[in-house]
Amino acid sequence: MDKKIEELANILEDETIAIRRSLHRYAERGWLEYRTASLIARRLDNLGYQVLVGKEVMKADARMNLPPKSILDLSYKRALLQGADKYYLEKVKDGYTAVVGILKNGKGPTVGIRFDMDALGILESKNEEHIPTQLGFGSCNLGAMHACGHDGHVSIGLTVAKILMQIKESMHGTIKLIFQPAEESVRGAKSVALSGILDDIDYLYAGHIWPQNPGDDSDLYLGMDETFATTKLDVFYHGVSAHASGMPQFGKNALLSAASCILNLHAIPRNSDGCTRINVGTVQAGTSRNVVPEIAKLEIEVRGATSQLNQYMEVYARDVIQGAALMHDTYVEIKEVGKAFTIDCDQPFMNKIRQIISTYQPQIKIAKKDCGALDGSDDFSYMTSRVQSHGGQATYMQFACKVTETPHNDAYDFDESILKKAVIIFSTITYHLLKND
Ligand SMILES: [Zn+2]
Ligand SMILES: [Zn+2]
Repeated sequence: MDKKIEELANILEDETIAIRRSLHRYAERGWLEYRTASLIARRLDNLGYQVLVGKEVMKADARMNLPPKSILDLSYKRALLQGADKYYLEKVKDGYTAVVGILKNGKGPTVGIRFDMDALGILESKNEEHIPTQLGFGSCNLGAMHACGHDGHVSIGLTVAKILMQIKESMHGTIKLIFQPAEESVRGAKSVALSGILDDIDYLYAGHIWPQNPGDDSDLYLGMDETFATTKLDVFYHGVSAHASGMPQFGKNALLSAASCILNLHAIPRNSDGCTRINVGTVQAGTSRNVVPEIAKLEIEVRGATSQLNQYMEVYARDVIQGAALMHDTYVEIKEVGKAFTIDCDQPFMNKIRQIISTYQPQIKIAKKDCGALDGSDDFSYMTSRVQSHGGQATYMQFACKVTETPHNDAYDFDESILKKAVIIFSTITYHLLKND
């Protein structure tokens, strides 16, 4: 059967790449994955999966930082023009873009695999050396780009779905393929986790396409560490506008609060307990040159190698934000718009995967060290902790490959040969967890 899985992955490689390129071309940002989600649902449906979408697998009020209605509506119209599946588009509109494909095959364990599917708010490079531009599959949706490999994740998921359906007679148990929206800025997993769809899962895993370390040609890390806990905050300073020359003393300067805030956020001391991060990603303020700025908005994030370190950063940051309001007598509003925890990968599960892959797919190079470093955050943590809380096991793997630039760069691209390897890895693990005795 392992040979068959490898053969099917080979046969389906071109199709997997084509799907990835199509998703790349029509990149959609978090909560707006209408074309993406509707086509995933259609495909799973056609393959014979039970398909649950939108409200069936999401807790509506746990969706974090949804775009305004106007953007939701525009993106819906765009998806319609770009070939979305009309039946499923109706079910995923208004930011209900999660899709779960379920294959029930008698009594046995329940396995869940998670695939994230959103793009980033990046203007893709038009440089001819950038392969998606050169080959004509660069994003046609201005300001949305798959620069984190989630296009690859979805294409891997759809091919895995096809292979598992073809070999289902040799397995018993339940498979849940979970396509999660809005992973970027860690906003989407919580709503899926709280829907209860994960509550019967015995084994849960995900994988992220990630840059190979220099001098390391491993394809697979069984888990990831240095997954940071993180909090995303939107900060709004409200001041009072006034004539900048005539009577500046009557103004309350929101821009100055924001500026003081930015500098002092970056002055939060390091912590000897471990790594921390802070970033102010955007700032918008003021309306006109000769007006004391009345409004300012910042989008910031803090991270920590442990939940305690993230908490240290968040508490300190909130004090700085409040302090900067006090300095210029403005009023501040802080909105939490994303959150994730550190991910604990289960060692026994990683051991089991090492044994399965090294025995049955020895061509896949597994790193000696179990865990690769993510040096980032992923809200998959909501899902792992949900599954672990009822005794299930979980891990978050790394599919290592050559890349052109770091993730989240406008010229990021990855070596597509990793797609086939990831398909083999997921399909083989699932088969061995569920195979008939
Ligand atoms: Zn990312
Ligand atoms: Zn990512």
